[in-house]
Amino acid sequence: MKIGILSRKPELYSTRRLLEAGNKRGHETQIINPLKCYMNITSHKPSIHYKGEKLEGYDAIIPRIGASVTFYGTAVVRQFEMMDVYSLNESVAISRSRDKLRSFQLLARSGIGLPVTGFAHSTQFTDDLINLVGGSPLVVKLLEGTQGIGVVLAETNKAAQSVIEAFRGLKANILVQEFIKESEATDIRCFVVGGKVVASMMRTGKKGEFRSNLHRGGKGVLVRITPEERSTATRAAKIMGLNVAGVDMLRSNHGPVIMEVNSSPGLEGIEKATSIDVAGMVIKYIEKNAAPGKTRTRGQG
Ligand code: ADP
Repeated sequence: MKIGILSRKPELYSTRRLLEAGNKRGHETQIINPLKCYMNITSHKPSIHYKGEKLEGYDAIIPRIGASVTFYGTAVVRQFEMMDVYSLNESVAISRSRDKLRSFQLLARSGIGLPVTGFAHSTQFTDDLINLVGGSPLVVKLLEGTQGIGVVLAETNKAAQSVIEAFRGLKANILVQEFIKESEATDIRCFVVGGKVVASMMRTGKKGEFRSNLHRGGKGVLVRITPEERSTATRAAKIMGLNVAGVDMLRSNHGPVIMEVNSSPGLEGIEKATSIDVAGMVIKYIEKNAAPGKTRTRGQG
């Protein structure tokens, strides 16, 4: 097969591993920088051009679209879909997963466990918003934050009020969330491929840190997940419409609660913590599923 990895960063562990796994399994695998693709979107014969040449003959693409380039990146994925090229994750599902509020609403609608979460545009009734999620301690999060940046634990209602007002003063979108104290700076990342959890790790934050992100000094280790956690992870990926997803959850007193469903989950942490060849599993999934016309939405929606 001819497989394109849409990534701006060939040096990244995840990109390198997918390239290596594709080549190892006998496929012609290439890295394509989505920001360097250009296309005529009005043409009846959709095409994509790259470095002066037309991209042709691809059977599948693996989108690894960074959060900061979602808009253009998903347009490129959509163009591939219109060309009948199979996309591992569809453009519509990627866009959906990048909108945290929309994702939470979709998950809540299907009865997936979530921390009690509130959101407001105006700061007029901040005290009521704080009450709505059960009061302090609570977590205030920047909607556009990644790698734990912009996630603040407010121990008192007063602190929460100040942080909310400061963020809103900067015109940042935020959400306010019940603090799951019992998770003890530990979260679970389940890597889902084709409706199955293929690897899971437990991440624990460094001493004195409530955030477990590996980028914040957290450590990841292999973990055995419960059947409930397994079904929560696979259901969450399915609701988001993602074939490949990194589902993050906390172990709360009332069962697993979802933090985020990531459409371009990193491979380094999970492969190193579990010694599982996740990249190889992703390629095997493509071998079984990639065929022209198999991308359900064909760029619609
Ligand atoms: P990011 O998407 O930036 O990684 P997260 O929402 O995943 O942000 O939060 C980062 C980390 O902070 C989580 O992995 C978790 O360890 C901790 N955390 C986030 N929200 C809560 C919460 N409501 N209760 C307890 N810990 C939390």
